[in-house]
Amino acid sequence: MTQAHNLGFPRIGLKREMKTAVEAYWKGDIERDELERRGAALRRRNWQAQLEAGLDFIPCGDFSWYDHVLDTTVLLGAIPPRFGHGGGAVDLDTCFRMARGRAPSGEPQPACEMTKWFDTNYHYIVPELSEAMEFSVSSDKLFEEYRQARETVGERARPVLPGPLTWLWLGKCAGAGFDRLTLLPKLLPVYGEILSRLKALGAEWVQIDEPILALDLPPAWQGAFERAYHGLQVKDLKLLLTVYFGPLAENLKLACGLPVAGLHVDGVRAEAELSRVSDWLPKHKVLSAGVIDGRNVWRADLERKLEALAPLHRQRGGNLWVAPSCSLLHTPVDLAAETRLDPELKSWLAFSVQKLEEVTLLKRALAGGDDGTAAALEDCRKALASRRASSRVVDPSVRERLENLEPGIDQRHTPYPGRRESQRRRLKLPLLPTTTIGSFPQTAEIRARRRAFKAGELGEDRYHAFLREQIAFAVAKQEEYGLDVLVHGEPERNDMVEYFGERLRGFAFTENGWVQSYGSRCVKPPILYGDVSRPGPMTVEWIAYAQSLTEKPMKGMLTGPVTMLQWSFVRDDQPRADTCLQIALALRDEVTDLERAGIGVIQIDEPALREGLPLRRRDWPGYLEWAVRSFRIAASGVEDHTQIHTHMCYAEFNDIIEHIAALDADVITLETSRSKMELLDAFAGFEYPNEIGPGVYDIHSPNVPTVEEMVALLEKAAEKIPPERLWVNPDCGLKTRQWPEVDAALGRMVEAARRMRAARPGG
Ligand code: GLN
Ligand code: ZN
Repeated sequence: MTQAHNLGFPRIGLKREMKTAVEAYWKGDIERDELERRGAALRRRNWQAQLEAGLDFIPCGDFSWYDHVLDTTVLLGAIPPRFGHGGGAVDLDTCFRMARGRAPSGEPQPACEMTKWFDTNYHYIVPELSEAMEFSVSSDKLFEEYRQARETVGERARPVLPGPLTWLWLGKCAGAGFDRLTLLPKLLPVYGEILSRLKALGAEWVQIDEPILALDLPPAWQGAFERAYHGLQVKDLKLLLTVYFGPLAENLKLACGLPVAGLHVDGVRAEAELSRVSDWLPKHKVLSAGVIDGRNVWRADLERKLEALAPLHRQRGGNLWVAPSCSLLHTPVDLAAETRLDPELKSWLAFSVQKLEEVTLLKRALAGGDDGTAAALEDCRKALASRRASSRVVDPSVRERLENLEPGIDQRHTPYPGRRESQRRRLKLPLLPTTTIGSFPQTAEIRARRRAFKAGELGEDRYHAFLREQIAFAVAKQEEYGLDVLVHGEPERNDMVEYFGERLRGFAFTENGWVQSYGSRCVKPPILYGDVSRPGPMTVEWIAYAQSLTEKPMKGMLTGPVTMLQWSFVRDDQPRADTCLQIALALRDEVTDLERAGIGVIQIDEPALREGLPLRRRDWPGYLEWAVRSFRIAASGVEDHTQIHTHMCYAEFNDIIEHIAALDADVITLETSRSKMELLDAFAGFEYPNEIGPGVYDIHSPNVPTVEEMVALLEKAAEKIPPERLWVNPDCGLKTRQWPEVDAALGRMVEAARRMRAARPGG
């Protein structure tokens, strides 16, 4: 019979219990055994919820106190030498030191690198690989959790672990580069031992995740899959190999031919591929169709899903399983916890618990259905019809505007060199102008007042008066430092997407819709459900007030369309490109309103532009086309003399440098100080045409660089970018820093710019 199963459940808990527990442990408020007790209770609740949803197989080993890739690294004993692991079982505090550099016990060490998990907003701890490293089973966590899961859900418990090739692929070579695949022969026996131990504990199936099969894989890696899985045979143990986040494409035959008992594919992102997979996958193997979207919050069209599943079911019978497309790590826990969402909108949504109910409903319907299934399908049909017809979703005025975009809407009046002259005359900036990225410290006081305001304990008048005081304070500080282009400091924003989402039509916010971002950090992405429009100005009042306090240019501060899109749960009833364009138009109105209010410099932040890149290279051009166009539409409503800035903060620009240039921002500020300006090679090599502000102060670190260090960075930058086009600024916003650090850093930064100018003609 068709089985309903799941690949992974959100580990944070409905009330973020994981966060509370682990942070209490880090602070020293609770002991290790209390932490373990809370972890076990949380896991039990998660398993119980999945049992109640009616699943046949329930994942275990998907829980983590920080990150599942880190847990795998620890399981394999791949501990970098600086953490002083002497062999044997790895201590939990060592694990925390790898993740965060410190733990309640042991010496602090530089933490391991962290980066984004495929194209999600989840971050994993990067395995550090070295050529001579050895592996050995070094943690009992997986085995212990399997044992606990068996106690709770019996034989439905199914252990899960990332596969050897995905783990290697995600790793980075420390020191001199070498071929990571050379580690595979040493890794496989350890995987073999893990599988044998799970088998000995009673496992019939093990889920092994190899999402890299949805990437462009070099031939050597494709070949390695064959070798690895032929080597990973454990008698009477069945492997379910899972692939998600995209189509298998050219890896399809490879995946279908691997010696595993079952293959899971992403039936949402690779829906069109399902039938081909079913054709190629031998009939005695299980095909798991991940038809319920694990990456988004919408209720599924179950009848359509059934239509897609029916032929596969006829082909394979019980060897067709049903599941979410990927682990539910990326969706919130339970919609039932939302008490304030509009009931109509709520009826269109499904969080993790609801998605698992959808999975089991599909299973029941495939088996012929029962009274319950007919009613549930009817309920689903009604909800979808309401969503399609709702006036909340479709706004005719937005549609009309989209259909009548004037040609040239994505172009400034004059190319950059001409604009530069107009801007120079208006702004009268010195050589190497100084500025910051937008936010100033979000002090405990700012956060307390915002909380009081949101709770209704502080009236709007008093809250706004307080914000004006904060703005005045930040402006006075910047005058004191001697900066050239000032900012208002963003005291009114807690989050750069939420602030704008709350002021635009088409976005909704949840109370408990948390998803893990990294470690104990969770985010609550807005739900972008309908056509986007701007009921009124969003920032003009604050920026104009700030400008009224100074003679210097005040920089308006907006979050760009791609970042708004990327950091939200986005509607699935139209292409992302269309949604992005709608946001761009709303922002364009804000940009022109700022200009009309006398603001001469406007920054549109796009930190998420690069992470929006599709996983497969062949999909890059399509994405970049609409992403760049959206930015340009937002930015191009202004006169030549208005200077548009953008800001990005991530490390790799090389492969998309032309598209960054195509944004045609007058100025781009970048995170560069940690890479010691090496990043600018891409800009220099490409001869980036407009102005650049490479960060000279790493705002992620509490260390404040000296004037000399900043001058050295600027000199390095000036070798690559002509000084006439160079700006001086920190790496990113200062909201996580303290005022004393900011005072020191910005004072020195201004001094560094002065020394640079003094050493140059025209400076
Ligand atoms: N303007 C934002 C700030 O200064 C930019 C944040 C970001 O790049 N992530 O905080
Ligand atoms: Zn930034």
